[in-house]
Amino acid sequence: MEKMDKPLTKNMMPDRAFATLADYESTGGYQGLHKAITQLQPKEVQQWVKDAGLRGRGGAGFNTGIKWSLVPLENAPPYDKTQTRYIVINADEMEPGSFKDRFLLEHDPHQLIEGIIIAAYAIQARTAYIFLRGEYHVAAARLTQALLEARAKGYLGEPILNSDFKLDIHLHTSAGRYICGEETALLNALEGKRATPRAKPPFAVVSGLWGRPTVVNNVETLCNVPHILHYGVEWYQSLGRGADKGTKLFGASGRVKHPGLWELPMGTPIREIIEDHAGRMQDGYQLRGFLPGGASTDFLLPEHLDVLMDFDAVAKVGSRMGTGTIIVLDDKTCPVQMVLNLEEFFAQESCGWCTPCRDGLPWTVTLLKDIINGQGRMEDLDTLTGLTRMLGPGNTFCALAPGAMEPLQSALKYFREDFERYIVGSKAVVEQT
Ligand code: SF4
Repeated sequence: MEKMDKPLTKNMMPDRAFATLADYESTGGYQGLHKAITQLQPKEVQQWVKDAGLRGRGGAGFNTGIKWSLVPLENAPPYDKTQTRYIVINADEMEPGSFKDRFLLEHDPHQLIEGIIIAAYAIQARTAYIFLRGEYHVAAARLTQALLEARAKGYLGEPILNSDFKLDIHLHTSAGRYICGEETALLNALEGKRATPRAKPPFAVVSGLWGRPTVVNNVETLCNVPHILHYGVEWYQSLGRGADKGTKLFGASGRVKHPGLWELPMGTPIREIIEDHAGRMQDGYQLRGFLPGGASTDFLLPEHLDVLMDFDAVAKVGSRMGTGTIIVLDDKTCPVQMVLNLEEFFAQESCGWCTPCRDGLPWTVTLLKDIINGQGRMEDLDTLTGLTRMLGPGNTFCALAPGAMEPLQSALKYFREDFERYIVGSKAVVEQT
């Protein structure tokens, strides 16, 4: 694959070094911003990103250009510059097994900053906040340096590139809750309130941060934007191998030979990620299943290896592409214990706002512990199945609980014999996850 086919990682350097402003500009950095601000109206920038087919890389997969177009701009130019609008970057990457945003933040912070400025121009926001996971100390230091460099070069502040557009970007480090991945909980946290999701509607694009129109975008999503503006819509569309466009950071963890991250076209077959890039399973281990997009996605099986990694193809076989970072289950790891591990995480991270999640997740953990400790009954499997429905989509205030149920419901479907083996008392597995 040519370098040009890997826009997101073209500036990545060995030995954990990161791209300075000069490095970034030397490979075409800030050219997309230049084009956007000097040649295009905000609505045209929105249309470019919409036509490119960029879908949000945080997991939901909503078309980014359409999301921007939902922000009221008072239609035709000159846009109402007295209206306060915000752009907020969700860099609170806390999905177990996901580490793609960290890679982008640490190694090429200007790519994100350029994407933020273009996005802010597209919705005419004058203030942006990067909501960064608190433990990402290296990313915080590098972003801080990059923001100073960008400001000194005239890419931030006012006026930007001699236009009448101005923008300030503030870095906010999170106090650390998984629920801040939900955009309205993130906005509450940013306002200094308890991080609980808000009732919708109104949606954040109309009434978000401090009641003003706000777009919340994921780090990887915005890192795509400069390249769409610089190299064009057709080029970007040509990068996808399936229905979805562009490239994506796909990852693999677990007992593969070479766990890691790779920038690959959207629509790359899962088999290619696990076998060619992750180097297959470690010696002595067989592939038993995998979570295709982080902890809150349904298990898939080896029979699904030829599925393409794009949003609709993975959904068609009963899971979600999520963050695109695959967690591999091998034949010597107990899926029941793996699910317990995940449910303990989700129970701890429940914000407690709604009853099914607040009470249902600890109950799930209790039942799984009873089963593993030899105190389970066959009826408990029916209760667990009932819980996957009770905490499913539409029954809770946000998507945390339904996401938590995805690995459980698929484990009950595909690995039921492992649960039953504990219950009938025969010696089951093998190694702790
Ligand atoms: Fe909070 Fe869980 Fe309800 Fe979401 S589903 S609002 S995390 S209690």
